[in-house]
Amino acid sequence: MEQIPGLSSLASAYQGHMAEKRKFQAIKGTRDLLPPETELWNRVEQTAREVFGTFGFGEIRLPIIENIDLFARSIGSETDIVGKEMFSFEEYGFTALDTFRRNIITLNLVGPEPRFGFFNPQLHVDRFLEALSFSVQKGEIAKTPEVLSALENVTELRDHLTAELQKEKPDREEVRVYWSAIQQRAKNVHLGDQICLRPEATASVCRAYIQQNMQALAQPVKLYYMGPMFRRERPQKGRYRQFYQIGAEVLEAITPNTDATKTIGKDAAVDAEVIEMVMAYFARLGLEGVQLDINSIGHSAPDCRRGYVEKLKAALEKVKDKLGADSQRRIETNPLRVLDSKLESEQEIIAGLPRIGDHLCADCAKHYAEVKRQLELRGVAYRENWRLVRGLDYYMRTTFEITARGLGSQNAVCGGGRYDGLVELLGGAPTKGIGFAIGEDRVILSLQEARKEVASGEWLVASGKSACDVYVAWMGKTAEATAIRAARDLRAAGFRVELPPVEQKFGKALGQADKLGARYALILGEDEVASGEWTVKTLADGTQGKVRGEGLVAYLRRNLSEREVKQ
Ligand code: AMP
Repeated sequence: MEQIPGLSSLASAYQGHMAEKRKFQAIKGTRDLLPPETELWNRVEQTAREVFGTFGFGEIRLPIIENIDLFARSIGSETDIVGKEMFSFEEYGFTALDTFRRNIITLNLVGPEPRFGFFNPQLHVDRFLEALSFSVQKGEIAKTPEVLSALENVTELRDHLTAELQKEKPDREEVRVYWSAIQQRAKNVHLGDQICLRPEATASVCRAYIQQNMQALAQPVKLYYMGPMFRRERPQKGRYRQFYQIGAEVLEAITPNTDATKTIGKDAAVDAEVIEMVMAYFARLGLEGVQLDINSIGHSAPDCRRGYVEKLKAALEKVKDKLGADSQRRIETNPLRVLDSKLESEQEIIAGLPRIGDHLCADCAKHYAEVKRQLELRGVAYRENWRLVRGLDYYMRTTFEITARGLGSQNAVCGGGRYDGLVELLGGAPTKGIGFAIGEDRVILSLQEARKEVASGEWLVASGKSACDVYVAWMGKTAEATAIRAARDLRAAGFRVELPPVEQKFGKALGQADKLGARYALILGEDEVASGEWTVKTLADGTQGKVRGEGLVAYLRRNLSEREVKQ
């Protein structure tokens, strides 16, 4: 055969390409959730809707992206979540400017192969500067110090670079220094808002409460939400980078000039009802080994939490040498967090530290006592845990955490508390708030642990549902139309129906029905169509009977118990 020039090299290039063919993987810390497991997710979510609905909560659907400042302000920029776990990016509409900037940032001017012999880097810089000053003039971009310094310094650096490149033998090191200085300044220009994937939703609910003027509605406003949250944590069992929370918040505008002392009883009842609601929800789900821990962290005042934190700090200073590096650091940054420590060697020391319960002001002590009384009235069992704290100023009084069985070290399934200062901190009017967030992934894991068959993919059977109620086994042209109509009528009546897209031999069809776990096979051949008497086979025991077409729905309804049929 005649050799085609260049073909073999083309072929090897293609093979090289195939070898490189990339197998895409889900991003680290994210997962695909598949059927039938998603049935369990749906049940967990549906039960939340039902239970929360009975307590008068309505659903709020929030954006997944928010301005990063919302979380920096609410969760605190010094926390791990905001400091290092946020997925963030810049949002703007300056496509050309961004392209010019990207050209600069990605251009490796002095790599192993210097490219400046045939390439004009000044051109990129000029375009960038031109577009930037144009946008600043038009007021599209704020005149921030970074922008102004970029405009001034980059021009200057560009001149140095041009002079160097015009030399007969440019000094590579000089070029590198100028170029990376230009790159750095271009990078520092903020073209728009810093946006992030939400790491939690309480701040978003408060943002929405303010933005949507919900203080004008009947108070309190009771909202629940569910959906994915994002934190760049180290993934492990029960801890993901995309995880799901189901949460609820009660927000209530504070009427001016009300005596705060008078509303303590009411607030305590609201707290207790919120806790009662989560516990009722977990009970309905059948979550096992549920343990509720509660505490009061008082409020941020010298005669309450702030005074306590001073005492705690002093006590920690005395034992500083015996503490680990993390706790030592926290004495300064956030002493309350020392109480969170799981370090074995610190437990005895922590047990001897001052307790917040002994340092609450009269109002906070009264509130806490009332919460406990209210929980008892509602038959909600709790354990007091003085080490349960939240290190943020706007959290106050009630905090709680719920753990469940089967989760190893990541066993917290719900965290919550009162945050009366948060809405105000975010720019709203004084507003009370209490809420919680449930880790849905962990709830599911715990349910699966408790019922191993769920984990092995038999949830549908375990929950009394099968993936398929009726498999329509049809053969022959005349049967096709009948099969399509039968499938339509059965589906309209709420049955799960599998209709093969092409005819199958009956043996194969029954095998397929078995694989799908179908309960019945509806057999439609030429004979059945002609006689109007259809064959229904019960797959569990192999029995079969004849049913007239128009009586099929009623027949199956009689035979499948109600809970087996998805209405
Ligand atoms: P937080 O918003 O940190 O108070 O967390 C509330 C609940 O969300 C926790 O009790 C966990 O159940 C769950 N949770 C928090 N972070 C993660 C994560 N990275 N992966 C899975 N669940 C999480």
